[in-house]
Amino acid sequence: MNRMSEFFKRPLFLGILVCMLGLFIMWNIPIEKRKYGLSQTSVTTDYTGLLPLKVERVIKVADNQDLQKVVQQANETRQQISIAGLQHSQGGHTYFKKGVSLDMRSYNKILEINEESKTVRVQAGATWDDVQKAISPYGLALKVTQSQSIFSIGGSLSVNAHGRDIRFGSMANSVLEMTLLTPTGVIKTVTREDSEEWMKYVFGGYGLFGVILDVTLELTENDIYTIHTEEIYTSEYESYFTNLIAQNEVAMHYARISVAPDSFLDEMYVIDYVYTGEKDSKTPLKGEEGVRFSKLALDIGRKGGFWENLFWDSQKLYINSIDGKRISRNNAMRSESTFMEFTSNTRVEVLQEFFVPIHLFEEYIQDLKQLLSSNDQEDDFKVHNITVRFAGKDSLTSLNYAKEDMFGLVILIQHGLEEEEIESAKKTIQKWTDLTLDYKGTYYLPYYRYQTKEQFMRSYPNWKGFKMEKLQRDPNEVFQNLFYEYYLK
Ligand SMILES: Cc1cc2nc3c(=O)[nH]c(=O)nc-3n(C[C@H](O)[C@H](O)[C@H](O)COP(=O)(O)OP(=O)(O)OC[C@H]3O[C@@H](n4cnc5c(N)ncnc54)[C@H](O)[C@@H]3O)c2cc1C
Repeated sequence: MNRMSEFFKRPLFLGILVCMLGLFIMWNIPIEKRKYGLSQTSVTTDYTGLLPLKVERVIKVADNQDLQKVVQQANETRQQISIAGLQHSQGGHTYFKKGVSLDMRSYNKILEINEESKTVRVQAGATWDDVQKAISPYGLALKVTQSQSIFSIGGSLSVNAHGRDIRFGSMANSVLEMTLLTPTGVIKTVTREDSEEWMKYVFGGYGLFGVILDVTLELTENDIYTIHTEEIYTSEYESYFTNLIAQNEVAMHYARISVAPDSFLDEMYVIDYVYTGEKDSKTPLKGEEGVRFSKLALDIGRKGGFWENLFWDSQKLYINSIDGKRISRNNAMRSESTFMEFTSNTRVEVLQEFFVPIHLFEEYIQDLKQLLSSNDQEDDFKVHNITVRFAGKDSLTSLNYAKEDMFGLVILIQHGLEEEEIESAKKTIQKWTDLTLDYKGTYYLPYYRYQTKEQFMRSYPNWKGFKMEKLQRDPNEVFQNLFYEYYLK
């Protein structure tokens, strides 16, 4: 009996007990799932749920000809149509009051892979994940995509999305050809040489210029990279990146800025994907890894103050641990997303993205320090994360956010859902937008519209031309959504 009680007091036993308890807690961290989208029964929302609305009908798109009839009829009856991919946009871009919403998700076939010319032709409701699964056995990879592979091709091109690639320019540039159902119901094959310039308006056109049916995308090889990570100061980043882009040794890159009180907007870390010259067609595509652990870490950071310092330190430990590891291009383009899910009846997490010219980054960050509180533990408006990516100059699309080479700062924000809390978040984001505009910057349009119409017009001086083209190409204004109504009506 005595020996038994001695055993239970031993450090080894206590250590095992603590580990088991830790594992039990970790295993039981709930993985939330936002409830949003067209499949909800009473009202439709998008990713944030901030704009609930009743639509008249949802049509699951399966066939070109049926869809063509829907659009032709809508022109006769003056019915409004919106288009929905995976609905990660956050400002009512995918639905309209009493409108018809096209659910593109089942329109997702991979139509052709051409290994020789390195291209894939794919229906617009497919996700990047679908495409990666089809092309990776051929040793092929995407040129441009978001950080994650959870979005539809049509939804991504309609916002002209960007990610971690720093060599291939804008997403719109990676499209060779597109089949388009125009707003008046004509099916057209459109190439880059198209004299009517449909690509200019459809890409970054937020579903207002007809339905992208399928696209032929240029691909590249599934290179193997070595990951290089480094901790630096925000004051060093401009020159760090300028060297990196000039040297041509790095294919992909992103960075993260500290929002922890002790190092607020001073410290950052960078992650580079360095060419090795090796290619890959064998490594399996990775799934979501370490979801519970990442969620626990983010939840700790969400508590703010001391906990946010702890979260930042844990992120630095993590990035040091991956320094020198190898990764394929396909796997670098499919980051985890599930751990970010946040569900609460009283609070919401939203994204915003601000773009600033590279050469103004340092001064911008200094001014941002005056605008935001370094310790937001007691505030309603909380900034959880700032990621930085490169958005190269885009000369193709009409509503372009990168008129020159820019850094895009993606911000994860949390605030309350009471009316005054939303109003207060709006005020802070509007001030942030003004600051960005003062630095010749812009803000990204797929997210919730905290900004004013005037701020939109300043950010996107081409808006008039965009609207004129919209009215010429869609004279009955069949394609509408809440984004269009708010900014352009
Ligand atoms: C967690 C998260 C991470 C994100 N990360 C990034 C990122 O790294 N980089 C980035 O650039 N953006 C990012 N975004 C924004 C995201 O890229 C856009 O919201 C994108 O539109 C999402 O694709 P989707 O399939 O959900 O599109 P949806 O939200 O369904 O649609 C977006 C727009 O495209 C239109 N559309 C959809 N399908 C078609 C079609 N077939 N034809 C014509 N129009 C169509 C819709 O009408 C709508 O206006 C992120 C968003 C979230 C929520």
